[in-house]
Parts: sequence; structure tokens; C-alpha cells
Amino acid sequence: MRAFLFLFLCCFITCQRPQQFADTIFVHGNIYTMDQAQPKAEGMAVLDGKIIAIGHLEAVMQFKGENTRVMELHGSTISPGFIDSHAHFMGLGYAKLNLDLAGTTSYAQIVQKIRDRVAHTPPGAWIVGRGWHQDKWDSVSGTMVRGFPTHALLSEVSPDHPVFLMHASGHLGLANGKAMELAGITSATGYSGAGDIFEDEVGNLTGIFNESAMELIASHIPKNEAQQDQLAFDAATKECLSHGITSFHDAGVGQSTIDLYKKNIADGNMKVRIYAMLDGSDRLLLSSYFVTGPAIGLGQDMLTIRSIKLYSDGALGSRGAWLLDAYSDMPDVHGHSIVPPDTLYRVSTDAIRYGFQVGTHAIGDRANREVLNQYQKVFDNQECLPSDFRFRVEHAQHLHPDDISRFHQMGVIAAMQAIHMSSDRPWAIDRLGQQRIEDGAYVWQKLLKSGAVIINGTDAPVEPIDPMACFYASVSRKTLTGIPPGGYEPSQKMTREQALRSYTLDAAFGAFEENIKGSLEPGKYADFVLFDQDFMQIEEDNIPATKVLMTVVNGEVVYTDPTYSSEK
Ligand SMILES: [Zn+2]
Repeated sequence: MRAFLFLFLCCFITCQRPQQFADTIFVHGNIYTMDQAQPKAEGMAVLDGKIIAIGHLEAVMQFKGENTRVMELHGSTISPGFIDSHAHFMGLGYAKLNLDLAGTTSYAQIVQKIRDRVAHTPPGAWIVGRGWHQDKWDSVSGTMVRGFPTHALLSEVSPDHPVFLMHASGHLGLANGKAMELAGITSATGYSGAGDIFEDEVGNLTGIFNESAMELIASHIPKNEAQQDQLAFDAATKECLSHGITSFHDAGVGQSTIDLYKKNIADGNMKVRIYAMLDGSDRLLLSSYFVTGPAIGLGQDMLTIRSIKLYSDGALGSRGAWLLDAYSDMPDVHGHSIVPPDTLYRVSTDAIRYGFQVGTHAIGDRANREVLNQYQKVFDNQECLPSDFRFRVEHAQHLHPDDISRFHQMGVIAAMQAIHMSSDRPWAIDRLGQQRIEDGAYVWQKLLKSGAVIINGTDAPVEPIDPMACFYASVSRKTLTGIPPGGYEPSQKMTREQALRSYTLDAAFGAFEENIKGSLEPGKYADFVLFDQDFMQIEEDNIPATKVLMTVVNGEVVYTDPTYSSEK
């Protein structure tokens, strides 16, 4: 009887409870919702970080109570928060803390930057930088060997400071003489791992260390102190939020990074939602997560650990991408495999068994084919294949035409970075030649038409985190300087809707999170961005100038452009 009375009372209270009021209502926006049922809206009512109503002004104003704050959007264009589906959060932070060489246009300019840094750095302390790319230089100084600079000029300006400068691709680095001396590397040092120590034709070290040979130098750079890590975390957070990135798929993290993220959740300092992909080369890390299973939605969906990052090959720039046929500009070179296919198979089998997604880096057509083959084998060998595993190929840059339709057929997501096309296409043609470029490089529309899901991103710090530059690359297929006028292989352009989807709703799908974010609709998180112009409508060449005015995560304003005021 008592139980009955209790139930009755509960029902009575629930049924009688007044309509919930919003804590904040955002009004007068030009809102792109990415919700097919209602693609555009004017206002949004938010309670406890989630959208409770969205649509016409009158409809959302019904949720205004005594304590509801009304924020004016001044007709600004709003989209769901951008989700970068493949980038490196701490790498982005450190790129901001260390010497940022992205955008340097000559080796002489880099040498000058090192000379300046030397003047302010105690002798013996390491100088670490990242982001240079010889194909972006407008002039060459000093000797080039195998297409890359040598350390001579660098060593001249920094005789007492060890220097290590990572290439933009992250697949090779340039060390100076002091760094090689500290690492005990001489021209007699051999290397048998998956990488190279570059030498000139008479056997002198050039300072270039390729792929895993980079560790010979990198292992001598003092590990970052906890305080530095926190500074890098803060720098990355700021960089993301000021560019409208509210979620981030972090491609390859270790336990210390996860601990840092958890600490920031506890401190209330986690403002960008992170979908962490575990470093697949760390066996201990994987074993421990295979025991506990995925960690989903920590700190109110600020952190999820549910994916494993593996590597199949290197990058196109350093000719490490693994190709079926040889490089067009180096006829005996095919690139190489990084993780052997059977390791890929073994880790992927464990992953699917313990509830993890796998995302494997594959650039060349051979690498992409191997990854799809291994995934297929994993799927075929499951007694009971989970209905929803969403394995991914990271980059999927260059595909053999026969493999394009396999993505959709196998339910494999293509995690591509449109901005790579814009940066790399001018020289990628030398590596692959016209035919292979047309048949299978950066073939967004072919993949989309086959039914595949593409998720977009920047691979920051390889490219700047700015989603508008990447969005522009997606829809124009031009370089950021607008070349060529009609775009490269224009039939492969994404429409603006497709591009926005790849950066929001589909990107959420790539992390099993499409039910909580990626579009603006009731029940989902109020993660959204205000822009100063309507990038879905304006003249194409004006898209890169689009500026973020305000970023909102969990209904909370986490970034405001200094020139913008939202108070009514
Ligand atoms: Zn990456």
C-alpha cells in the first residue's frame, strides 16, 4: 500500500511540475542546426549545458523564466561547435610554446630564428622547433641532400645549443651538430630500425633523421616538466576555442596525457571535449585499457577514451607513404610500412573484442589497401561481429580506385584532412603523377558518392587548427592563396553542406557521439560557434577571412572576440 502511495505521489509531482525554464536563451541568430528536420533556426533555449528548445523566436521565448538570461546574437551566423577529427592536442600546445616554424618561407629565415633564440637561451639548453617544410620555401640556401637541407648553417649559428627541428609532417627532423654530438651519433653510427640517418654522397651526416631514427635524437631532449605540460594544455585550449573548435579527436595519447586531462577535468579547467585515441605502439597502455574497457563520457562528456591509433605508413612529403607503384619522382622508391600488417591485425582483433575503435594512419594506396585488408580479416574472423565498430582510416589520402568503394561496404570511416590537399597538392603531383592524383588522391566526392562517411580535421600542429581554412579547402580545392582559380580536380569538391557535416555531425559520428553533439537540437549539448559572416552563403574566396566571435561549450561562453559583445 505504501509503495502504491509513493508511486502515486511521484506521478502526481512529475505531472504537476511546471515547465522547465531555460537558464540562457540565445536570440536573433542565423543558426545552421545540421538537424535535417529543421535546418535553420533563430533562437535556442539552454538549461544545464543542454539545448531544451531551438527554432523560431516565439517558440524558444516560451522557455524564458524570471532568472533566464537572454543573450543577443545580432543576426550572427551560428553553427554547431566544430569537431577536429584528427589532430594532436598537446602537440598543438607545444607548437605554441616551442619555436613555431610553420609559415617559414626559406631555410635562411629558420637559421635566423635559431640565431635569435640562441641569444636568449642558456648554453647547453635544447632549442626545439616544429613546422618547417622545404617545399614551402621560396629560396634555398646551403646544400640540399635528397631534397632536404643539411645542418651546416644551423650548426654555425648554434655551436653550443643542441637544436632539433621537426618537419611539418612529423615524420622527420633536422638536428644540428651539437645535438648529434650529445646523442653520440657519428657518420659511423648505423641504424637498422624503420627509418634513416641521412648522409651526403661522401658519408657525412646531414642532420636529417627520418621516421623512427628521430628517436636517436629525440630521446636526448629532456622530458617536459609537469608545469610545461600544463602550459601546453592551456595554450592548446585557447587555440581551439578561439577558432571555434569545441571537440577534438586526439590522435595518439599516452597515460601521462590522459592523467593531465583528468586533472584538468577535476580542476574545472577542461573546456574542449576530447576523444582520445590511445597510442597503439604502447603495449602496456593497451593492455591496461583492455582490462578496464573504454572510458566513455568522463566529466560530463569532456573526455572519452575509446579508440586506438595505429600507423601503417609514413608521409608523402618524405616519401614514406607506402605506394603500390613507385614514386613518380623517385622510380625505385615505394615508401614503407611502419607497423607490420600482422601487428595491425592482432591489435585490431583485440580492440574489437574489448570494445575499442581503431584508427590507422594510411597515406599511400598500398598502406590504405593493407589496412582495409587487415580490417576485413578482423571482421571476417569474428564469431559475432559487433553491429557498431566504426573503424577508421586516418588520412586515407591516396587510394587505389578499386579500394574507394570498400570504405562504405565495410563501414570504415575516412578521417581526412581537407587542408592537406590544399597544402600538399601543388607538390604531391610530383610524387604521384597526374593519373594517380586524378584516380585516387583526396577523392572526397568519390568517397561520399560511394556512401562513405568522411570526417574532417587539420592534423594540427601539422596544419593550423583553423577550421575555416580547412572548410575553404574542402569546398574550393584551392591553396589558401586561391590557386588554381577553379580548384584542383574540381569534381571532388565538397558542397558547403557536406563540408559542414564532415566537421560537425559526421565528426561526432566518428566518435560514437552523434547522439549528444554535432547538431543543434533538443537534448544535445549547447556547443556552438558564432561567426562574423555567413560562410555558408558568402563569396567562396572570402571564406578564409571568417572570424570567430564567440564560442560556447556546455552552454557556457568560453571564448569571446575582444571586439564582440553579446549582452542585450
Ligand atoms: Zn596526425
